[in-house]
Amino acid sequence: MSASFERGYQALKEQIDAPIAAFLSSCVHCGMCAEACLFYTETGDPKFTPIHKVEPLRKVWHQEYSFWGKLARALGLSKPLTDADLCEWETLVYDSCTLCGRCSMVCPVGNDIAYMIRKTREGMAAAGHAPAGLIGASRRAVTIGSPMGVKLPALQAQIRHMEQEYGLKIPLDVEGAEYMCLLSSMEIMNFPEYLGSIAKIFQHAGVSWTLSTQAFEATNSGIQIGVSDIAAILVQCIVDAAEKLKVKAVISPECGHAYMAIRWEGPNLIGRPFGFRVLHILEVLEQLREQGKLNIKDREVRKLTYHDPCQVGRRGGVLEQPRQLLDMVAENFVDMPEAGKMNWCCGAGGGVSTNERADELRLTAFKRKKAQLEAVAPDALVSACSNCRIYLEDGLEEYHMDIPLLSLTETIANHLADEKLEVIHHDPHLQ
Ligand code: SF4
Ligand code: SF4
Repeated sequence: MSASFERGYQALKEQIDAPIAAFLSSCVHCGMCAEACLFYTETGDPKFTPIHKVEPLRKVWHQEYSFWGKLARALGLSKPLTDADLCEWETLVYDSCTLCGRCSMVCPVGNDIAYMIRKTREGMAAAGHAPAGLIGASRRAVTIGSPMGVKLPALQAQIRHMEQEYGLKIPLDVEGAEYMCLLSSMEIMNFPEYLGSIAKIFQHAGVSWTLSTQAFEATNSGIQIGVSDIAAILVQCIVDAAEKLKVKAVISPECGHAYMAIRWEGPNLIGRPFGFRVLHILEVLEQLREQGKLNIKDREVRKLTYHDPCQVGRRGGVLEQPRQLLDMVAENFVDMPEAGKMNWCCGAGGGVSTNERADELRLTAFKRKKAQLEAVAPDALVSACSNCRIYLEDGLEEYHMDIPLLSLTETIANHLADEKLEVIHHDPHLQ
């Protein structure tokens, strides 16, 4: 038994807590999870059945913890898990799962299959069976602080650029601000307008906020690759910065996994509650709308539809807020069939986008989104996750669909009335 396989085996064994054991023992093999997964529906290949993807974890549970498994092992009647099994399952666990959680919604016995796949990744990564792209991203996240290698000078350059373009000041390291905003690498490098947009909206609504030079990156590649230690280091970095600045809340940006990582997994990862709240940017924008602090002019007239990012909507519960905001900003908003909590994934979450090997399969799976979009034929597609945005665009291009992609935050910023409701003071001591 090689040392890396031994590490992987032990890591899988350590994942088997009471919920995982209950999930594994209660599967009735009904196959309903298959029809919920876009990798199965668009390929028809039974190997993409969600519960099949956790077979390495099931094997370890069976041979280590079940009576019949232990007996069969003692009598030499069972086929134990091997390194070859892990090697074979690598593409199933990483390339054909976005951790979207749709399968978990349909299981009649309540198995959270996405959670089980996430746990299986812990063993795969420990055994050295993780995709090179994700390993590189995780390494950069720990050493540089960003999975795409975005360092502070790159952020500062984008801040200067946005300050010029929007004609306003972007606050940095303001102690006592109400909110500390996080950004994903993709936003910093590909969509800096998101940063300009939040600055414009917050100035318009009189919100006190700041960025932190110590922790500005929201993406948590530790969650994506399945290494809790890395995930915890990245969460701790944000917690330290937020507590140092004494902010009341941290705002997760238009990124699905970042929200899941910091809001729902974060306190468990570092083993204590945070001294601040965590909100998704759409939750903050909806609060501002409710308080009458968003003054909209010239509502969008194009027919808009909304793609719910899996970790924001289905897994994160932010489902009503984007619809309220779209009704505010657009005259003609329509939902796609199966939108909301059963929305189909863009196919690129959970680290799939960082894994070039998965590109062909991802684009095959995109046919599900294509069918959803064809049902409503929108003039533009809105989302609230920069990863979804990039890979939805990629899928639309592949299938020659000419539908512009919009960010919900940027759409709101673009339709704000010019007059400011209140002037922001960046120094809280002056307020
Ligand atoms: S979490 Fe999503 S992508 Fe992964 S197996 Fe379940 S339905 Fe498929
Ligand atoms: S839907 Fe649930 S019970 Fe049915 S095969 Fe999948 S995991 Fe097992």
